[in-house]
Amino acid sequence: MRVQCIGGGPAGLYTAIALKRQDPRHDVTVWERNARGVTHGWGVVFWDDLLDEMHRVDPASASAVRDAAVVWDGQAVQVGRRSPVFLGGAGYAIGRQRLLTLLGDRAEALGVDLRYATAAPEDLAGPGLRAGEPASLVVAADGAGSGLRRRRTEELGTRLAAGRNRYLWSGTPALFSTFTFGFVDTGSGWIWCHAYRFDETTSTFIVEAPPDTWAALGFADLATPACLDLLAEIFDPVLHGAPLLAGRSEDARAPWQTFRRVTNERWCDGRLALAGDAAHTTHFAIGSGTRLALGDAVALAEHVREVELDEHLAAALASYDARRRPEIRPLQDEALRSSAWFEDPVGLLEQGDDLGLGWSLWQRRRRAPAWRWYLHRASQHAPMRRVRTSAGTLRRHVRARRRRWSVPLSAGPARPRATVGEER
Ligand SMILES: Cc1cc2nc3c(=O)[nH]c(=O)nc-3n(C[C@H](O)[C@H](O)[C@H](O)COP(=O)(O)OP(=O)(O)OC[C@H]3O[C@@H](n4cnc5c(N)ncnc54)[C@H](O)[C@@H]3O)c2cc1C
Repeated sequence: MRVQCIGGGPAGLYTAIALKRQDPRHDVTVWERNARGVTHGWGVVFWDDLLDEMHRVDPASASAVRDAAVVWDGQAVQVGRRSPVFLGGAGYAIGRQRLLTLLGDRAEALGVDLRYATAAPEDLAGPGLRAGEPASLVVAADGAGSGLRRRRTEELGTRLAAGRNRYLWSGTPALFSTFTFGFVDTGSGWIWCHAYRFDETTSTFIVEAPPDTWAALGFADLATPACLDLLAEIFDPVLHGAPLLAGRSEDARAPWQTFRRVTNERWCDGRLALAGDAAHTTHFAIGSGTRLALGDAVALAEHVREVELDEHLAAALASYDARRRPEIRPLQDEALRSSAWFEDPVGLLEQGDDLGLGWSLWQRRRRAPAWRWYLHRASQHAPMRRVRTSAGTLRRHVRARRRRWSVPLSAGPARPRATVGEER
């Protein structure tokens, strides 16, 4: 089969890898408009379920991703300079650039024709499917602003909705080994950050601001350096003097955005299939968009496995759509509830009950059983947190053993380090 993937993000690259692993005879091209090693954003989080799925499809890229990832351990909710409240949970994080380089190299090693710095030709999806011709699939993996999707909004039933808050995705050399939510009352309104370390030297630092706070602090008119300096000052309670880093914004003004919620009633049209953010975005507050993009890629490759002729593509893509779309709905619903929580935490913040705030944040995706409240309270004591850390490490080791990976895994960089705000 001939396959053209538009976009060399996680969805496009992993579709190419999954297809080539299935059958090396597939003729797969990935078009990526950015140069090799260039991407937007900083680090992304993921969990063992992603490593399991990757391991099933392609053990080589799964272990490469794990080796390049770090572990973040627990979560902390800090209001101003008050002592943090601790939540459970642990996971991995990896730099987006590192992840895409690994996947790109792996795709090339499998024989994918990867064209960096090349925008895809406009007419790739062409008119209809041709009877008797070899199958020719086009994958729209060109992200939330997908150009391919935009040209077929009616056919795909695309809906776009903008989130209320402004966010800015930056980085910092402060190493947050605990996933940290920092809330600050600026006097002109509340603002908060989501921060976690993703390699040996850098953490992701996402700032979220309600529109009133954003306007009152004058962010609309600030150039990137002034904006980052002001944010570093505001977030001093968690940054302790560390700066914020700009990334590769070519824009003179700071790259504030609003989250774009993308949904599509159908994920295919003719020879075109949507995957990843082009099909559905997932609010960053649950850190799952990359995992879902890779999952779409796996599902798509599995559904076109038997297709040889062009006229058989339509049925295969319809079955990909029918299975994958409902499969991800529960997580999409959780993402909606989570983003709704972050659209209006001010009432909770103003109650001044940090333990209650942490509990509410923990439950923002789904209601927790009552016994968890007692665990939450106990987790405010360091010995209990150490027990939870050990249990998490053990769980990761068990999962790794099931993949037949050698233990201890933490010999490389996948090891938690001392946290900003956490005594060890
Ligand atoms: C602030 C923030 C934090 C996030 N944190 C996490 C997290 O912690 N964990 C997580 O799992 N997810 C996270 N995500 C979500 C994640 O980044 C996306 O869901 C994921 O990148 C989607 O992958 P994709 O391949 O569909 O799209 P993208 O990664 O957007 O890739 C699309 C690619 O297509 C290319 N492209 C577009 N048009 C063309 C064209 N015409 N020709 C050639 N190339 C083209 C683009 O250059 C781009 O490289 C976060 C998102 C944001 C905004």
